Amino acid sequence: MSQAFAGRLIRWQLEHGRHGLPWQGTSDPYAIWVSEVMLQQTQVLTVIPYYQQFMRAFPDVSSLAQAPLERVLALWSGLGYYSRARHLHRSAQLLLEDYGGEFPHDRTVLQRLPGIGRSTAAAIAAFAFGECCTILDGNVKRILARYFGIRGYPGERAIEAQLWQTAERLLPQGPDSKTMASYTQALMDLGALVCTRARPRCQLCPLQSDCVAYRHDQTAVLPTPKPRKSLPVKAAAHLIVIDHNRIFLEKRPPSGIWGGLWCFPELAVDQDSIDYCARNINLRVSKVTELPCLNHGFTHFKLCIYPQLLRLVMPGPSCAAPDRTWVTIEEARELAIPVPVKKLLSITETVFQSCNHVSQ
Ligand code: SF4
Repeated sequence: MSQAFAGRLIRWQLEHGRHGLPWQGTSDPYAIWVSEVMLQQTQVLTVIPYYQQFMRAFPDVSSLAQAPLERVLALWSGLGYYSRARHLHRSAQLLLEDYGGEFPHDRTVLQRLPGIGRSTAAAIAAFAFGECCTILDGNVKRILARYFGIRGYPGERAIEAQLWQTAERLLPQGPDSKTMASYTQALMDLGALVCTRARPRCQLCPLQSDCVAYRHDQTAVLPTPKPRKSLPVKAAAHLIVIDHNRIFLEKRPPSGIWGGLWCFPELAVDQDSIDYCARNINLRVSKVTELPCLNHGFTHFKLCIYPQLLRLVMPGPSCAAPDRTWVTIEEARELAIPVPVKKLLSITETVFQSCNHVSQ
């Protein structure tokens, strides 16, 4: 499997891949490192002039390490993600201090340097030292997720581990350094030129014949996108105060959640509802029951509503205030009320009906 996969990619790369990029055709780990870091978040065409200028100014580890950081940042200016430049500079200093300016051949040592992750270390090791190790950047994750039909967001730890295992399984067997460089370049080129994020050019792909995503028309949904961030959850108690066949509603202030709509009094779930009614709405009530939680989604959070059914035990002063009212359920349905209140009205109606049924 791995030989066939690697063979197809290498043959494709020779004929259709990129061959004239300024950082290709070298086994200098420093040049490879600089290009890999620049390419981490930036398009090839943007990187080319920056790379050439950077390499003219700092042709080796020593010149970069000894340059003032301000100068490094100035040459990086416009590329963005400036932590990359700071990490390059710091790593060059560490390489000079600890390794005399030479790159250690051990990938695990490279990975300890600031800004060099597992995939970047593998790219340096494969291109510069011909080591048989795989890269796994975003492009390669996309290729593998589609080719094998691997579902799940690739940034998730378990999915990423599966992708690393898969990528390692596909490495050419006993490759020489030229093969490793071609294979690594082929992965990069396929992701950049053919198996692109949007509208992959499957007709040109050397993997098309047995690509799961292509065969099952899944290229638009693989790799699985990042899950939407889960919304914060808030909780509130809503008080359904009943007096015979009427319920109590308050009008919300004009701005804010449900602004200007009629709602049940709302309070924190740990507040005492009987005390709240006495103090805030001048009603003496007793608790009848707690109703099941009702969930409601807003754009920025979810609200868990804990409704409490309360019975008026001693009428307070009449509701002269324009933002308070006693209405029947039918009348309430005619008012401007939000969806959860509508749902709570139906629940309350059911409770009323069952009470009436019991009392008959
Ligand atoms: S066939 Fe299409 S989806 Fe599959 S690896 Fe090739 S370009 Fe990507």
